[in-house]
Amino acid sequence: MSQTVLVIGGGIVGYSTAMQLKVVDPRLDVLILERDLTYATAATGKGTGGIRQLFTRPENIALSKYTLEVLNDWNHWASVNGDAAPDLAWQPNGYLFIAGEYDIGHLRSNYQTQRDCGVELQWFEPDELAQHYPDIEVTDLKGAVLSPNDGWLDPLAFFDGIKRKAHGLGVQIDEAEVDTLATRDNRVTGVELHDGRTLAADVVVNAAGTRAPHIAAQIGIELPVEPMRRHEHYAIADVSLDHLPFSKDVAGLAIHAHAGGVSVGLVDFDHPGGEDFSIDPDYYAAVVQPALEHRLPKVGHFIEQRTWTGLYDQNRFDGNAIVGNVSGHYENFYFAAGFSGHGFMHALGVGRGLAEHIVTGTYQTIDLTNLAYQRIVDERPYPELGIR
Ligand SMILES: Cc1cc2nc3c(=O)[nH]c(=O)nc-3n(C[C@H](O)[C@H](O)[C@H](O)COP(=O)(O)OP(=O)(O)OC[C@H]3O[C@@H](n4cnc5c(N)ncnc54)[C@H](O)[C@@H]3O)c2cc1C
Repeated sequence: MSQTVLVIGGGIVGYSTAMQLKVVDPRLDVLILERDLTYATAATGKGTGGIRQLFTRPENIALSKYTLEVLNDWNHWASVNGDAAPDLAWQPNGYLFIAGEYDIGHLRSNYQTQRDCGVELQWFEPDELAQHYPDIEVTDLKGAVLSPNDGWLDPLAFFDGIKRKAHGLGVQIDEAEVDTLATRDNRVTGVELHDGRTLAADVVVNAAGTRAPHIAAQIGIELPVEPMRRHEHYAIADVSLDHLPFSKDVAGLAIHAHAGGVSVGLVDFDHPGGEDFSIDPDYYAAVVQPALEHRLPKVGHFIEQRTWTGLYDQNRFDGNAIVGNVSGHYENFYFAAGFSGHGFMHALGVGRGLAEHIVTGTYQTIDLTNLAYQRIVDERPYPELGIR
């Protein structure tokens, strides 16, 4: 008899996991339960679509590499029943991390880790950076690292490709909200839906994004994850910046060319948690614009055109995803949460890992053991070092 896996949440993590389950074991019945198919409050689709290997934990580097491999084969990978794959508008301009006095040590040691993990990289001293990118202010910098094979894409097109692939493999989706988990004898036996139905399952995957903690808490798993407001701004300038890489500094300023202007974010990690979609009308002018015009002074003024808000599922413990199941405790309940701004680029690989673990009991493609919940129980944080 075939096994049933229910996936709670149909964002990019839920869809990727469902799709990978069908790849790893086509006999599984896989049903996604998504409470809102308009995705009005989901993080997926609000993001900027950046994909980078500039991490410091080998798992995160491997997860990004996995996604880049899919992108390299995208037209074939995402073509379903002869239909062409969605156009990703992939911009392989690279990712550039820049560092000043305070964080240059991290940048150097991370550079070594990334090289050891096989990332192609280029190190720039400030004068070399100025030669390559004359628009960038370098007087307060001590160095920079370029990962030339990274870039950014249209997040909705990427999500669309994953969804189509999942449905092509037989994944089903139902618009329904999960209220509670049904349990018996240290097993999750299914879910109870807001519309009154109860669905039975052999395995349940919690991919509910910012709401994942509510679901996990029902069986005593306390995920240290909370929604965190994150603004993104689209601004225009007189000069085209289409040649620039996706540039980030340790303060969180992230800039990339977008639609003739730039898309820019400067994460306020101290913003109180909560489902807050409000837009601070002063944030761009008071915080972002000065930082942007400091970093790109020759460009002149950047005029804000639009600001939008999405939510990070911020892991307040160490800023990295929490993935897997808990040994000896409702072992047929899996989760992937707390992506803290990396979930878009890591969904496919995490989905693959979860699928392998569910089907075979072990990770095969990428070992995600270090991202397990156990580190929270043991109070052993596993953070990124330097730029997050
Ligand atoms: C402004 C911004 C920029 C970003 N930029 C990047 C980037 O450049 N690169 C990157 O990798 N990441 C980026 N991210 C992060 C990325 O978007 C997220 O990590 C990723 O989308 C998380 O996907 P998810 O599927 O876990 O969550 P979501 O997309 O939030 O999906 C969770 C889904 O679960 C559903 N759900 C919740 N509770 C229930 C329930 N009880 N029953 C049924 N369904 C339920 C929700 O409706 C939702 O659709 C950015 C995020 C923001 C906000």
